[in-house]
Amino acid sequence: MSIAIPSGLVQNGTGIPQVCTRHGEAASVGKPVKFWSKPPIWSYFLIILGALPFLIVTLILRKEVRAQAWPFCPQCEKTHKNRLITGIALIALLPLSFVVASGAGDTGALLTLLGLVAAFAGLLVLARGAYRMLPGGFASRDGSTVDFPKAHPQFVTAAHAAYAQAAQQYAAWQAGQHAPYAQPTVGYQPPQQ
Ligand SMILES: [Zn+2]
Repeated sequence: MSIAIPSGLVQNGTGIPQVCTRHGEAASVGKPVKFWSKPPIWSYFLIILGALPFLIVTLILRKEVRAQAWPFCPQCEKTHKNRLITGIALIALLPLSFVVASGAGDTGALLTLLGLVAAFAGLLVLARGAYRMLPGGFASRDGSTVDFPKAHPQFVTAAHAAYAQAAQQYAAWQAGQHAPYAQPTVGYQPPQQ
């Protein structure tokens, strides 16, 4: 299921349910998370000009929404730890491949290449295991919402409830702001039990 949560409610925490986005389970831990917007499709054409123009444009256009404590369940914590360990182990193969390759003669170049491939795969695994990536959320292009295209139905339900509660609190706060200027209702009697 998909849901878009207003960025303001992500930043101040009132729109964040205490339910994991991926698994719909009760959260066991809250981690600071930055949600970024996806680069626009046309920006990928800049790669033709080189990585730098693409990076600059991506960074300028990127919207960021920060959550101070995003909910994660024990399963997410486990995924994060596993990917961290796997990623580091794969990256550690690179210096190892240099050492082995130096004494391997002709096959040395192939070993070094394998080490590079393993290190690149390790970086990808590390990135995929980051707490920032696990909820699968992206800031919208204008930065007004954080979108979750593949959220767990239980997360969606809980997020709607959190939104309704935040809206209610806001309405109550607004009523309180305007109360001193409100006219008292003359002749109104509270219902008697
Ligand atoms: Zn989870």
